[in-house]
Amino acid sequence: MTTRIRNGRIIDPANDRDEIGDLLIVDGKIADGIAREADEEIDASGLIVAPGLIDIHVHLREPGFGWKETIESGARAAAAGGFTTIVCMPNTSPVADSPSTIAWIKQRAAQVASVNVLPSGAISRNIAGEELAPIAALAQSGAVAVTDDGKCIQNHELMRRAVEYARMVGIPVLDHCQDYHLVGDGVVNEGRWSTSLGLPGWPCAGEEMIVMRNILLAELCDHDIHCQHVSCAGSVRLMREARARGVKITGEVCPHHIALTDDAVRNFDTNAKMNPPLRSQQDRDALIEGIADGTLTILASDHAPHATFEKEVEFDRAPFGIVGLETELGLFLDLLVHKPRAIDLPRVIEMFTVEPAKLLKLNSGALSAGAPADVTLIDPDLEWTVQPERFHSASRNTPFSGWQLKGRAVRTIVSGRTVWQLER
Ligand SMILES: [Zn+2]
Repeated sequence: MTTRIRNGRIIDPANDRDEIGDLLIVDGKIADGIAREADEEIDASGLIVAPGLIDIHVHLREPGFGWKETIESGARAAAAGGFTTIVCMPNTSPVADSPSTIAWIKQRAAQVASVNVLPSGAISRNIAGEELAPIAALAQSGAVAVTDDGKCIQNHELMRRAVEYARMVGIPVLDHCQDYHLVGDGVVNEGRWSTSLGLPGWPCAGEEMIVMRNILLAELCDHDIHCQHVSCAGSVRLMREARARGVKITGEVCPHHIALTDDAVRNFDTNAKMNPPLRSQQDRDALIEGIADGTLTILASDHAPHATFEKEVEFDRAPFGIVGLETELGLFLDLLVHKPRAIDLPRVIEMFTVEPAKLLKLNSGALSAGAPADVTLIDPDLEWTVQPERFHSASRNTPFSGWQLKGRAVRTIVSGRTVWQLER
């Protein structure tokens, strides 16, 4: 089977390629050359032809919470967002802290998922932060990283040993940075709105303290620690200084932290409740600056589906998080490329492909001959409206309903097969 994607702008940062041309796929793999007869022709005039996008921070909720999302529905949402590979978080029920749960997720994904699903394992048993999960066995069974996301190891010695085990088996440690004592039961950014609404505050120092801890341990262990969903100006400043010294610390940004500020909680909208919370304008600007100067290298959604009945409760009782896979690319293109022009389009693609592939040591994120033909076609100028009722995700918890965005994926190809296409 031969497919020719014709006349698109091929942006392949790993191979330093940005040109109008044809991309040939033979039997599910990227092929060299353009002259051959093709069984299928895809006209990509006016479109970007990019390596399949990777999202390293997704909650698929299965096993255990199938009413929020399943591996199947989450993968469909990923495909509709332009993602060919997603990394799912281990805070399921049971927690993915054993090889058998990792094996179950992989097997389930092989049966029902339309995109590549890579499991991450827990750092600690039951993500309780008390004793280590079997990190080497998790890596051997296919976990591409370990993280206690949603929770955070408070015992620095335990975290140090986790980083040492992860180094031995060659996988990074991803960390949700939250100091439990500083944050307490905080639900919104500590600042003007926490005071005027009378809601418990979640101060930036609670994130920065753990970012600093991670910098020290990344340096001590000489291994990769990746800070998930960075939200504070101070975190960016600490990481910038550490990276300049060569410390193996990386960070990711989620779209909501640059699309919104804590102003969005003023009406007690539970779709503006996430962890870490929406921050101040100054933090938002610092994140964009960190993206622009290369301090923050990865873009991710923290796709966190919850059912409507779970979110329709008092603000401090509602669960944290929003769905993100289907709005992520549009928001980043709109907020980073079209409006303030913080970075250019090839860099956005690099932050969704080359950078996560490098961190996780994946054989994807590039359009190299012989690689699996995971490809995303993007219309960077397509204007569209966010309509949650049309989401492929099983959940609808988004603060972006009705937003007008510019730019989105229009076709997602996994191993040479179109798994989703925008209806026009
Ligand atoms: Zn988290």
